[in-house]
Amino acid sequence: MTTRSAESPELVALLAGRRVAVLTGAGMSTDSGIPDYRGPDSPPSNPMTIRQFTSDPVFRQRYWARNHVGWRHMHDTLPNAGHRSLAALEDSGVVTGVITQNVDLLHTKAGSQNVINLHGTYAQVVCLSCAHTMSRAALAEQLEALNPGFVERAEAIGGLAVAPDADAVITDTASFRYLDCPRCAGMLKPDIVYFGENVPKDTVAQAYSLLDQSEALLVAGSSLTVFSGYRFVRHAAALKIPVAIINRGPTRGDDLATVKVDGGCSELLTLLATELTATALR
Ligand SMILES: [Zn+2]
Repeated sequence: MTTRSAESPELVALLAGRRVAVLTGAGMSTDSGIPDYRGPDSPPSNPMTIRQFTSDPVFRQRYWARNHVGWRHMHDTLPNAGHRSLAALEDSGVVTGVITQNVDLLHTKAGSQNVINLHGTYAQVVCLSCAHTMSRAALAEQLEALNPGFVERAEAIGGLAVAPDADAVITDTASFRYLDCPRCAGMLKPDIVYFGENVPKDTVAQAYSLLDQSEALLVAGSSLTVFSGYRFVRHAAALKIPVAIINRGPTRGDDLATVKVDGGCSELLTLLATELTATALR
């Protein structure tokens, strides 16, 4: 059933007394100012594919130039009431853990302990040849030294928009100098799963295992368009544990949901934190 009630008694009733695994997507972070490119109010966009990135040095140059400006906006972004509510629900033993499609680290910033970053995070960079990793902050210092004043000039142009992958919109990128792996001179890439890439097997296994230890799956802020998230709804259905979905607009998992609430994450997760924490303490 789909409901729009602000009080959502069906949602509360379904999850009360159960240990709940949570799957979150871009709709979770819109209230933190990170746009959801698949949301009902969003403009269409062409997400980057891994093939574009690896096959075209000009594309990589443009990518790193934008990322050099965009990543610090993501770095400064703060969690919202929805993230804080999930952290509180984990604290009180209701939530078993969070599987997230977001790379923004906002669940961790809000205090969630058991977070599975399905698509990686903006804060790490990996070499595609030797798998050497480094922090995005360390790379930022080196890029700053190679491109003095670039960020300031980009900010002066204005019109920066932060995308879910820490990309930002700038046009003047032809002069930008980016870096290869300091160990093997291979190609560096943000440690993020892009279109055309698979989620690492160990990460998927961890997420399935979390679901196996839980008694319900709550999806918050994902249209479940990509299989990397949708498969967990199918897994929950196969386990015969109930699925609840909170999302603005329809999702690919609606047919498998016991309860679907068409609404915002911050508001509804705040309600759940209030209601379910009280139930857990009773
Ligand atoms: Zn390397």
